[in-house]
Amino acid sequence: MDKGAKIYVAGHRGLVGSAILRRLQAEGYQNLVLRTRKELDLTDQRAVYRFFEEERPEYVFLAAAKVGGILANATYPADFIRENLLIQTNVIDAAYRYGVKKLLFLGSSCIYPKYAPQPMKEEYLLTGPLEPTNEAYAVAKIAGIEMVQAYRRQYGFNGISLMPTNLYGPGDNFDLETSHVIPALLRKFHEAKVSGRWEVVVWGTGTPRREFLHVDDLADAALFLMRHYDGEEIVNVGVGEDISIRELAELIAKVVGFRGKIVYDTSKPDGTPRKLLDVSRLFSMGWRPRIPLEEGLRQTYAWFQAHVAEAR
Ligand code: GDP
Repeated sequence: MDKGAKIYVAGHRGLVGSAILRRLQAEGYQNLVLRTRKELDLTDQRAVYRFFEEERPEYVFLAAAKVGGILANATYPADFIRENLLIQTNVIDAAYRYGVKKLLFLGSSCIYPKYAPQPMKEEYLLTGPLEPTNEAYAVAKIAGIEMVQAYRRQYGFNGISLMPTNLYGPGDNFDLETSHVIPALLRKFHEAKVSGRWEVVVWGTGTPRREFLHVDDLADAALFLMRHYDGEEIVNVGVGEDISIRELAELIAKVVGFRGKIVYDTSKPDGTPRKLLDVSRLFSMGWRPRIPLEEGLRQTYAWFQAHVAEAR
């Protein structure tokens, strides 16, 4: 991928796509192709083919997807499966048809079985039932992985798939109903602090364990794999350690400066009990994350204050 290569970042306004874009720009890539959702509807097959025919990108980062937290996934499963299947099918097929040299597809750690042994190795894919709260999304992502592998086997198309763990960072969705846990808690603790409330409600029991990766580290891994990996096997991307939601809530309270009480609403779902990726495949290639969780949370909180808190 030389600096003049024509690169399409699908989903460049999302959490992941915007981080990949920042990283490409910082490294001096200038021949970038971008389309907002208004300019190009990726669920529209004809529009996607027309775009690839006209632009003929050489490399594609497929970071466009419908994503959301535990409640959004449980409430809108039809939207999650439909939009993701359409977007990925259109983009992967068009990339193959219009001669893309390499495509990187982003999966998710929720593709692994709910009760998979921890940490989760790549080969645990399709070895057991999924977590019901995000099954529709997970099945769409699994279809995308299979499609990338099938196009490699049948057509020799160079597509790779990367499975990120739970992500967070600047540009995230901070809407309390649809967001993931980190932006939700940053907002809840922030709003409690500024309005002088002494109690914050955290969903579930606080006992589930999750692994969190800063999106700038994910972007770093995406470029690393785009440059150095051409295999059929999927690759997990994570930090290799997890924390409980209770520990996370306490850490976020500290970062935000909230000194009140944390209460647990056990009427809300816990989801998967534990989600920790085995990252030995990626680490053995020489990649490591750089941003410790507390530092990443501080930086994300600063971004939230600059971009979201003031905008309301
Ligand atoms: P998941 O990893 O797919 O389960 O996605 P989430 O990031 O939405 O949730 C992770 C865990 O955090 C789950 O156990 C949630 O119940 C818990 N959690 C606690 N408080 C919140 C909250 O305010 N919002 C969200 N989204 N999750 C929360």
